[in-house]
Amino acid sequence: MLTSIIGYPRVGALRELKFATEKYFRHEISVEELENIAKKIRKTAWLVQSESGLDFIPSNDFSFYDNMLDTAALFGAVPKRYSKLNLPQLDTYFAMARGYQGENGDTKALAMKKWFNTNYHYMVPEIEDDMKLVLAGTKPFDEFAEAKSIGVQTKPVLIGAFTFLKLARFTGNKTAEDFSNELAEAYSAYLKKMDALGAAWVQFDEPYLVHDLTTEDIYLFEKLYKKILENKGNVKVLLQTYFGDIRDYYKKIVFLDFDGIGLDFSEGKKSFALVKENGFPQDKLLFAGVVNGKNIWRNHYAKTLDIISRLKKYCGEIVLNTSCSLLHVPYTLQNETKLSDDYTKHFAFAQEKLYELAELKKLADDSNYFDTEVFRNNAALFEHRADCHDAAVQKRVSEIGDSDFTRLPAFAEREAVQKKEFDLPKFPATTIGSFPQTADVKANRTAFRKGEITEEQYVEFNREKIAECVALQEEIGLDVLVHGEFERNDMVEYFGEQLNGYLFTEKAWVQSYGTRCVKPPIIWGDISRRSPMTVEWSVYAQSLTKKPMKGMLTGPVTILNWSFPREDISLKESAFQIALAIRDEVLDLEKNGIRIIQVDEAALREKLPLRKSDWYGEYLDWAIPAFRLVHSGVKAQTQIHTHMCYSEFTDIIPAIDDMDADVITFEASRSDLLILNSLKENHFKTEVGPGVYDIHSPRVPGVSEIKNALDKMLEKIEENKLWVNPDCGLKTRGETETAASLKNMVAAAVQLRNEKGCN
Ligand code: GLN
Ligand code: ZN
Repeated sequence: MLTSIIGYPRVGALRELKFATEKYFRHEISVEELENIAKKIRKTAWLVQSESGLDFIPSNDFSFYDNMLDTAALFGAVPKRYSKLNLPQLDTYFAMARGYQGENGDTKALAMKKWFNTNYHYMVPEIEDDMKLVLAGTKPFDEFAEAKSIGVQTKPVLIGAFTFLKLARFTGNKTAEDFSNELAEAYSAYLKKMDALGAAWVQFDEPYLVHDLTTEDIYLFEKLYKKILENKGNVKVLLQTYFGDIRDYYKKIVFLDFDGIGLDFSEGKKSFALVKENGFPQDKLLFAGVVNGKNIWRNHYAKTLDIISRLKKYCGEIVLNTSCSLLHVPYTLQNETKLSDDYTKHFAFAQEKLYELAELKKLADDSNYFDTEVFRNNAALFEHRADCHDAAVQKRVSEIGDSDFTRLPAFAEREAVQKKEFDLPKFPATTIGSFPQTADVKANRTAFRKGEITEEQYVEFNREKIAECVALQEEIGLDVLVHGEFERNDMVEYFGEQLNGYLFTEKAWVQSYGTRCVKPPIIWGDISRRSPMTVEWSVYAQSLTKKPMKGMLTGPVTILNWSFPREDISLKESAFQIALAIRDEVLDLEKNGIRIIQVDEAALREKLPLRKSDWYGEYLDWAIPAFRLVHSGVKAQTQIHTHMCYSEFTDIIPAIDDMDADVITFEASRSDLLILNSLKENHFKTEVGPGVYDIHSPRVPGVSEIKNALDKMLEKIEENKLWVNPDCGLKTRGETETAASLKNMVAAAVQLRNEKGCN
């Protein structure tokens, strides 16, 4: 039996790449220094994998920002607005990723979207009509050679042509189909070069195949691959799928000229049945994704070996594989010094998953595996987990009734009450919550965590920050204020730390986008709130201003989706437990005079099943009720906001309206306001603040640019429902650009009010 992984994390176990890249952005290190750090990270990863005994070691899974962006660059899909900046190669690449504002010009970044159902974000390639897609770069070849030079033979991985075209945006009149021939040629050239370099296998990632596919999709796929596979020479080609099963296409795809097919047996509910019912060609390798690449729990060997032995009946050779790239889990448990072994023995991060693969490989080849110590120790892990059950929590969840999901009075009546209550100007201006997390803000938290300052000192510092932040917002002229979230490192971790049932890691970072990483907490047991979590900060902030201060909470679905979830109870059960805890916080804020409460559901769209047919049955049926449970207990006067980020939620607009919030703010600036059409078509009732500028870029938007965006919004949104805000929190931004951007934003809102004669 052989073993493989689809990809490995790449920011470095201690986020070395993140820090180096950010230094490079600040012109503190040279491109050579950055390249050297990247090289070291790649080398370490390859050596760890090779020492673990892994048979198929990926290369080109590294990226300075994102693999979609790498693929676009590899095939010359560089929009003119970037190439005409005339920057060095890597800087052009970063301009596409982050936008550019400097001596050479001023242009926005590419759009960024969530990668399937993960919290990773990819850059959306833009394909212009007159672009010529050709093999234009050398990154995969360089990295293959680099690994070879340290004695590691790798399997280069690349996003496949089909997924690339399906996720790209075509800015002119041409379509994916129009580019299919030249792209197939470019991929063929890639294969030929890999062949010449001596690659034995290459992997094409085609996760798009796990969606509901149309006949046109299948036609496109076949057109691409018939051509590409003609040119494979001696290279063996692995078609790798993940994040689900390929039920729409399985029967045909297995007969294409691939040498290996990677199926996901973790999220692919039908993968096993597909193999069983249709068989699997004996001359191909089945890369069986049996080690979950998305979650951090130990693999259950008994279950895995059972699947493998059942699969063996239908297939020739099986390769033990992860279910997706290990990009979505942290590097290693070795850096976790604080969690006791009682907990950590239940976990496997990327490096530990390599060891699991090695163990599984041995066991799978041993007919007496159940007699081995390795197997018995593993089985014992699943018999018992300490302190994870709380009877009171389970009882409360079981007692939730229908009325707990319904807020009264209904929306229209509340809207009228609230218009009077707040008497805000038209097009009220607000922000999403966080203000820049400057070095002093982070230092204050770190010092407190390390016990270097007292709690009073810690609180005092944050209060000063809040006061400055409130004063700044008043000066800028915002209408609904926020306290700035200086006490939070992360919108989920902050709450998780104050909830029973959560576990925290020290270094378990997972890449979210570019140089940004998140450290998802682990849901270990039943969840409950110990005491109020945000009330003091919000009440203090409100005491500084007459304007309404938004309470700021994270919603249950996001808390759940950005944590590593339990596998022993359902997601619905966990979501309801968290919802009850947040509900208590909402009611406490209201009781303490906070009249507007924002419950962020940044990640609601993220775990939407990739197949439409599963949306309601498997997800929305509990996710939307979980949100409603949070706010159904407040008075008509209390205004509930929610916020969502970068996702295409065009298709779930009715479900979002059904969350029954009073106001929703969301990301729109990077996606050309396409979502607005859908709001109109669906008679969206909730008031809306589609982000008027992109906060993921340091660029300062001009007043007229924002005003134009607002004008466009007003074509689709009723005047009395439109809010004005950036598209997400400002915590990753610098102070100067933030103040400048917000001033421009308010100026645009004021201009609009003047135009409409309502100032
Ligand atoms: N309130 C959070 C903030 O402003 C929301 C963050 C998010 O949506 N990702 O940072
Ligand atoms: Zn956001």
